[in-house]
Amino acid sequence: MIDERMYGLGNAPSAIRELFAYGLKRKAEIGEDKVFDYSIGNPSVPAPQKVADTIEELMKLPPVELHAYSPAAGIPAVRQTIADSIARRYGIPAKAGRVYMTVGAAASIAISLGAVTNAGDEVIVPSPYFPEYKVWIETMGCSIVEVPTQVPSFQLDVEAMGAAINEKTAAVIINSPNNPVGAVYTRKNLEALAAMLEEKGKEIGHPIYLISDEPYREITYGVEVPYVPTIYPRTLVCYSYSKALSLPGERVGYVYVSDTMDAEEADRVFFAVAGAGRAHGYICAPVLFQRVAAACVDEPSDVEAYATNRRILTEALDEMGYEYVQPDGAFYLWVRALEPDAQAFSDRAKQHELLIVPSDSFGCPGWVRMSYCIARETIENSLPALKALKESYDAE
Ligand code: PLP
Repeated sequence: MIDERMYGLGNAPSAIRELFAYGLKRKAEIGEDKVFDYSIGNPSVPAPQKVADTIEELMKLPPVELHAYSPAAGIPAVRQTIADSIARRYGIPAKAGRVYMTVGAAASIAISLGAVTNAGDEVIVPSPYFPEYKVWIETMGCSIVEVPTQVPSFQLDVEAMGAAINEKTAAVIINSPNNPVGAVYTRKNLEALAAMLEEKGKEIGHPIYLISDEPYREITYGVEVPYVPTIYPRTLVCYSYSKALSLPGERVGYVYVSDTMDAEEADRVFFAVAGAGRAHGYICAPVLFQRVAAACVDEPSDVEAYATNRRILTEALDEMGYEYVQPDGAFYLWVRALEPDAQAFSDRAKQHELLIVPSDSFGCPGWVRMSYCIARETIENSLPALKALKESYDAE
């Protein structure tokens, strides 16, 4: 018998994917340059040259060796290179044995949840949040507990998170730099979170794990992104090369079970991660791109184009009188909808060929998300449409 929940998930694409699909259709109808597609987070910056050079070099390996299965957790030398890089960059004694290679942050989060939750548990998620969290949490038989962040800073509301914790709380997911808001949690904010989780863990009699979703760690505009394991030991870092190296379609990332955790506990968590990977079929991440990731582990991300887009867009929105959150990282702009119903606002924007995602599926009413990881000309060409959209409300 078909699983109706799975049927529902497969049959109803996310709001982002739905708008993206609409955009493809609309571009075919009226022309690529007439549609201003701010829907999806596909990096517009090319992957570093080193990616292509590494692939060319790897092609010289004997094919059987190049394409062979790796161990379930990944190629040992790759895991070692990544652990060394973590140790070098963040000053913690990271070990290869705590790195589990995955097909991107999506799989990293799904298996981290599989590792540290049991059916019936609750997982706390600050809102707004990446909509797939809810899908993954519920797939584990758990419930999502949404706790709004503070407006207008969109930093964590640690007090409210603490108030939401009870004996069923197993984990918290945070995402900084944040999709959809672009906020980067400050060290002070994370320290307050760590102190609260430590205390609440004692109160409820079991540890609370922190799942730190970090695909945008490298995409920042001059602010510090504290390394969460140095602040809260019971952390599972879910990293990805999708945005850092502009390789979203190649599906490579990892889970790192923090070595700042008690060693015995970290061993148990790591084996649970490996077990969840096995149980869900996430073993032996794509081997070619495991090797590419290792070769490019310390390649800087090119954020120049995103910084320029951010400047052009925010300056224009300032002039037009839109309200938005100044993003410190990632490549999304969180803009206040010009009417309370964000879906209605997004629908009206469509009439101006502007594709912007309503905030409801991010667990927050009244806003829209604009992905500005797109061509600079698209942003420039979209400005008259954004102005006309604003004027259509001003005229009411
Ligand atoms: N987490 C967040 C916040 C994201 O924005 C994304 C992708 O856009 C993911 C996870 C999934 O990333 P990946 O492509 O590495 O699976």
